Amino acid sequence: MNVHRMICEGENAAEVLFVCTDDQCGRRVVLGKSRPKIVVIDDGELGASHIGSMGGVFIEDVDAA
Ligand SMILES: [Zn+2]
Repeated sequence: MNVHRMICEGENAAEVLFVCTDDQCGRRVVLGKSRPKIVVIDDGELGASHIGSMGGVFIEDVDAA
């Protein structure tokens, strides 16, 4: 299984934007800070496992389901 790293590309007081570093993928998700929630903006490569972290926020194997 492919493993893609995601990096923080932007944030505000409530949410953090993570993007996949794989050019062929383009997955983008928004994570809520105050409460755990994930909003998938772009699915990217669904078969890949996505991991990333920023500050106290960690994501691992985020699925669109
Ligand atoms: Zn990816």
